[in-house]
Amino acid sequence: MSGSHAGDGARVVVVGAGIAGLAAAHRLLERGARVTVLEASDRVGGKLLPGEIAGARVDLGAESLLARRPEAVGLAREVGLAGRLQPPATASAALWTRGALRPMPKGHVMGVPGTSAALAGVLSDEGLARIERDAGLPRTEVGDDVAIGEYVAARLGREVVDRLVEPLLGGVYAGDAYRISMRAAVPQLFEAARTHTSLTEGVREIQARAAAAGQTGPVFMGIAGGVGTLPLAVAESVRARGAEILTGTPVTGLRRDPEDGWRVVAGERVLRADAVVVAVPAPAAAALLRAEAPGAAAELSGVEYASMALITLAYRRAEAALPEGSGFLVPPVDGRTIKASTFASRKWGWIDEENPDLVVLRTSVGRHGETEILGRDDADLVEVSRHDLRAATGLTAAPVASRVTRWQDGLPQYPVGHHARVTRVRAHLAGLAGLAVCGAAYDGVGVPACIASAYAAVDQIHGDLHGVQELTANPVQSLHGGAGE
Ligand SMILES: Cc1cc2nc3c(=O)[nH]c(=O)nc-3n(C[C@H](O)[C@H](O)[C@H](O)COP(=O)(O)OP(=O)(O)OC[C@H]3O[C@@H](n4cnc5c(N)ncnc54)[C@H](O)[C@@H]3O)c2cc1C
Repeated sequence: MSGSHAGDGARVVVVGAGIAGLAAAHRLLERGARVTVLEASDRVGGKLLPGEIAGARVDLGAESLLARRPEAVGLAREVGLAGRLQPPATASAALWTRGALRPMPKGHVMGVPGTSAALAGVLSDEGLARIERDAGLPRTEVGDDVAIGEYVAARLGREVVDRLVEPLLGGVYAGDAYRISMRAAVPQLFEAARTHTSLTEGVREIQARAAAAGQTGPVFMGIAGGVGTLPLAVAESVRARGAEILTGTPVTGLRRDPEDGWRVVAGERVLRADAVVVAVPAPAAAALLRAEAPGAAAELSGVEYASMALITLAYRRAEAALPEGSGFLVPPVDGRTIKASTFASRKWGWIDEENPDLVVLRTSVGRHGETEILGRDDADLVEVSRHDLRAATGLTAAPVASRVTRWQDGLPQYPVGHHARVTRVRAHLAGLAGLAVCGAAYDGVGVPACIASAYAAVDQIHGDLHGVQELTANPVQSLHGGAGE
């Protein structure tokens, strides 16, 4: 592709067309940049993937957007999806623990309760009594960071970690609560731990603040047609505004030209750019940054990932009676194979309305470090899902269709020290004007956090380019020249 001299904007290449890269492109266009997005695979969206089972539209990747932060629902509105945003039809989920489906207790922060009320059944009497000791215990120091499991177990006992925190954190990170960083994964709890001796008191204060801030709307939102349609809509919007998105174009190298911005190598192609946004998973980012930022690359190489598989099942409605609610989470300590099930037809009104004769649900398997389960073939994963579903819900019918979606290295892990690692990555990159990183490896794995990191990356390079403009003898050439090679 040859660069163009037309237009006023800086030429920016975005590497990766997951939601972070696409959000960066969206924001860059608003800032007047000329944007090219290079995507290795043959489609946009990354971990957001719309699909189909038995003729029903479903999500085969991420399916739900946290609505308590503005970025994801905001982006959906900006690209024309306002009318398709939809809260879950039911927000009541269950825990499959201690031999039964039990209502998920309300009023917790990532599984950490403000009181032991409403936890009966989920926890043993001993576990409930242990929570009460929190108020009288001396302070538990958290230092710069602490594993959430370790801290919560010290304050409230292991049962809270094993039966509440683990399944909730597992749903987001597919990781291990005794390794995951409290500071990176649940910063409001880290703050509460720093400012309170009693954790339950800290949690109650978080809840009181949320109530006072009027956070009463739905916590999550879906999109009719699937959250997987969000990247498609963003891609359409950025293309309509003149950006180019090239799929099937893996970027293989990134070189800085001290006189003239960046060279982005994609196979035979070399693109000239004033700035580059690297929006790819950590191992791919490490490979691209090795030449110009070996320190950042070394840090990024250390980021570990968890793999998982989603098993989507469609049943004839007449044959598939399910319990109430949107699905259930399974604490690992209960020794089951599946780690969660979402009753998609129950949870999302649009799936229910579009498929009156079907019941669609999905299960998930795979946590960080679990390799055996993901080594099994698709038929086996369907079988273990059916086995566990039968035990949890009594569902014995045979599905009319099944679909296994594997997410190899789907979720980056945020162990203790993640925040410090990301700070070091950014410090290594600080001297490289016009280069920014974003995506799930840095400031949060959820879709809104990925979008926020993309917007921050755009702010950073915008600042870099303005700085360069002021310092450069020939800013027009330096900033706006687009001589492709
Ligand atoms: C199964 C699953 C379910 C999830 N569910 C939810 C959910 O319900 N809600 C939620 O908020 N979050 C969820 N998440 C997390 C969230 O979906 C992801 O963290 C987020 O989508 C990551 O976006 P990203 O743009 O950072 O990265 P990605 O989606 O990984 O996109 C990166 C892109 O870069 C491309 N790429 C890689 N290397 C190169 C290269 N060298 N050159 C060019 N392109 C390259 C990749 O092909 C990919 O398209 C889920 C994740 C998984 C795996």
